[in-house]
Amino acid sequence: MASDPRTALREIVGEVRAYLEAQRKMGLEYTDVRWPESPAPARRLTLSEVREELGECTRCKLHRHRTQIVFGVGNPNARLVFVGEAPGADEDAQGEPFVGRAGQLLTKIIQAMGMQREDVYICNIIKCRPPSNRTPESDEILACQPFLLKQLQAIGPQFICALGGPATQTLLRTKEPISRLRGRFYDFHGIPLLPTYHPAFLLRNPREKKTVWEDMKLLLLEMQRAGPQALAPGESGS
Ligand code: SF4
Repeated sequence: MASDPRTALREIVGEVRAYLEAQRKMGLEYTDVRWPESPAPARRLTLSEVREELGECTRCKLHRHRTQIVFGVGNPNARLVFVGEAPGADEDAQGEPFVGRAGQLLTKIIQAMGMQREDVYICNIIKCRPPSNRTPESDEILACQPFLLKQLQAIGPQFICALGGPATQTLLRTKEPISRLRGRFYDFHGIPLLPTYHPAFLLRNPREKKTVWEDMKLLLLEMQRAGPQALAPGESGS
């Protein structure tokens, strides 16, 4: 092998390319490279099984500060899942996501869309409250996100609405700001995902409520296009 690292790297790349080309000629059509946390485990778990697997989780440092894990709430067969950032003080105390002031605003948004909280599923990318409600850190997101993906796989929603920057950036693997990402659909493992502002942001910037409502109208339109079952109320549970 060449002593110059760049030449050596070029040689390795050339060898890999030749190997893949040989595989292709033998009938292998593509190489399936999945992210380890891709929601495609051997068997689709139920929400209860995902919760059981999570257990009294200590996989990241956030377990030290929490009162309890805030797993998720709503219809286990929901057509629409809202994914937020992390529990706050009220959620940590009650064990349910989006129950504080921002949560009440989310409930109003859901009702304005013609649904109830029980019709949708609500969860966060992080299941334990970060101290002083700080933004979750990357190691915490990395430790927790496999469980979010398993939750989404268990529910199998028709649509996902990501609330705020951290949730959207985690799900879409991007660093783009939410102001640029919101208001358009993206593909999340075959599920249309619409990012919008987090309700907590709306409490600080009430003028943006109009923007979120525009996003929700877009979501409703797509849900209606997908079929009336997309708006049908479902069984409640968590
Ligand atoms: S935030 Fe998630 S990974 Fe971290 S301790 Fe809580 S449940 Fe476990």
